[in-house]
Amino acid sequence: MTTLVQKDESQNRQKAMIAAHYTRLARSRDTGERNVYTFVPGNLTELVRSFDLLPVLPEINALQSGMRGKSKEYIAVAEKAGHSEDVCTYVKCDLGMMKSGNLGPTGERLPDPDLLLLSYTGCFTFMKWFEILRAEYDCPVAMLHVPYQSDGVITDAMRDYVVRQIRSDVIPALERASGRRYDEDRLKEMLARSAQAEDDLVWVLGSAKNRPSPIDAYFGGVYYLGPIFTAFRGTEEAVDYYRMLREEVAARLASGRGPLTPDGEITDERFRLVVEGPPNWTSFREFWKMFADEGAVVVASTYTKVGGVYDFGFRHDPSRPLESLAEYCMGCYTNLSLPRRVDMLCRYVEEFDADGLLVNSIKSCNSFSAGQLMILREVESRTGRPAGFIESDLVDPRYFSAANIKNRLESYFQMIEQKRGRATA
Ligand code: SF4
Repeated sequence: MTTLVQKDESQNRQKAMIAAHYTRLARSRDTGERNVYTFVPGNLTELVRSFDLLPVLPEINALQSGMRGKSKEYIAVAEKAGHSEDVCTYVKCDLGMMKSGNLGPTGERLPDPDLLLLSYTGCFTFMKWFEILRAEYDCPVAMLHVPYQSDGVITDAMRDYVVRQIRSDVIPALERASGRRYDEDRLKEMLARSAQAEDDLVWVLGSAKNRPSPIDAYFGGVYYLGPIFTAFRGTEEAVDYYRMLREEVAARLASGRGPLTPDGEITDERFRLVVEGPPNWTSFREFWKMFADEGAVVVASTYTKVGGVYDFGFRHDPSRPLESLAEYCMGCYTNLSLPRRVDMLCRYVEEFDADGLLVNSIKSCNSFSAGQLMILREVESRTGRPAGFIESDLVDPRYFSAANIKNRLESYFQMIEQKRGRATA
């Protein structure tokens, strides 16, 4: 028996926004609108949209396909075409979708790319992915090389290096793809709107410091991040969405309510967790339920920072448009060194008063998984709070073992309780 899925109003709104964007893309052959394929981390959405180009995010297509039960067949198509089992499943899902008619999540055909814009922020797979797409589509490519934050700082030389590339490579490529001239005033207006939306988003994520937390910052968080991580940063729609979301969460907080899950509200917050790693999309609801049934609420997560780390103060800045875009790209979570990631997680555990850190290690995502055991040990020893480890995959249902994950979660929750018992004994 399936129970009715419960949703906040903001969730319906963001779903409608994303669906409308897919419809707009599908109709672009008739309307003449052109597009840019690009990735979530380090995306230059405001710049792209300032040319009236529409962003297409292949990872979002893949995760949407995973949530809609299509990824299994797409991955099989890619594997049949020779892509190994070890390749990132977002890539295989995307390639399988393309080979199966490029039908987007709403069932309509997506347009071929007018430009592949690779903003290279830390994951080597991005480069290989676009090499394959370039061969398939035979379309222009622009690459922005974003220096890795190996020492945990952004120097002037790093910023200048990225700005120079935006001026000399990215903007001319966008001019050619759109047939429009670069308009810096327009970009500044968009960046001002981004900063407004980012303020509201940071407030929403910070609300999880309360007890009970009014939000789940991982499972619920991915919905909150939808508009800002996809095609909407810099638009009025994003400003309106984040204002509405903030009001919704403020009302929930004022009445002392916990987060709404698809199976109802969490009324008894028993565990507060920080989660590292992306979620599984093919069994997303089942996965969330395993936490919700135990009263486990995620109060902070790193996955909700892959498209931008805003909670430590960064905002897009219209007074320094290209510099601020460069800093944004360099500050994405995927571009941070392991010591920086450890610092960030320790800070989350402490500031959100979490019971501990849980790592969801993703089989096919080397970018996230590398170093996770070291991260786990470091965070555990620095915060003194227990850490747990589970494994799944992004969009390959073969690697979601519900019984295994449930067992490990139960052991982890017992460990937290034992630790509490020792603390009060
Ligand atoms: S390896 Fe991870 S970060 Fe890289 S493209 Fe795949 S899912 Fe994204």
